[in-house]
Amino acid sequence: MTGTAVRIGLVLPDVLGTYGDSGNAAVLRQRLRWRGIDAEVVDVHLGAPVPSGLDVYLLGGGEDEAQALAAAHLRAHPGLQRAAARGAVVFGVCAGLQVLGSSFVVSGGTRHAGLGLLDVSTSPGERRAVGEVVVEWDREPLTGFENHLGVTTLGPGSRPLGRVAAGTGNGDGTDGAVTGHVLATYLHGPVLARNPALADLLLSWVLGTPPGELPVPEVGELRRERLRAARAARWR
Ligand code: GLN
Repeated sequence: MTGTAVRIGLVLPDVLGTYGDSGNAAVLRQRLRWRGIDAEVVDVHLGAPVPSGLDVYLLGGGEDEAQALAAAHLRAHPGLQRAAARGAVVFGVCAGLQVLGSSFVVSGGTRHAGLGLLDVSTSPGERRAVGEVVVEWDREPLTGFENHLGVTTLGPGSRPLGRVAAGTGNGDGTDGAVTGHVLATYLHGPVLARNPALADLLLSWVLGTPPGELPVPEVGELRRERLRAARAARWR
């Protein structure tokens, strides 16, 4: 982290932002502010250069065509890749996950190169996965909503985020992918609003603080924990 405020990059919300994924940036900013840490969201738009000096980068979901545009833009302006190379935190959802991988095939059959930050590749599945998802994660069950055709295969350079208890996720019983401080999932929600422990894991990486040492903000925490547990119980 550089400077005084944590700088949260909301990457291409104009093409990657279905199902309110842009809300993940607001969640990170608010959880930092609750802890007395200044934070700002920097929107990175299609057609503009991608800054390499931000602390965390967020990519949301999108249609095939939108994510192909996003991948082409991010490959042409490799600020995100430079930031990841120096250890910046990167978080992707659905199309964001696929774009962070090595390649993805869209429903027309065209293969697009990804950013190669996760060792995953994606191809169209037989049917669209739509609905609620519960993922067993090492901290607590994660809940979210999925809507994607892509099936994602992990290589040895990434490990899954968790195991799917309900829904589809990657398509092989796992969901998401993690390599270093690059983490991605199929869960929309916004997923960081529904699963603050996941938000805090990302923040612990940004701040260089073990997650257990991040004081828990008290605002609304109890109510949201009841809601999270109820959703996990309902959909499992
Ligand atoms: N277009 C991708 C797919 O269908 C991702 C969809 C999404 O981000 N919701 O697999």
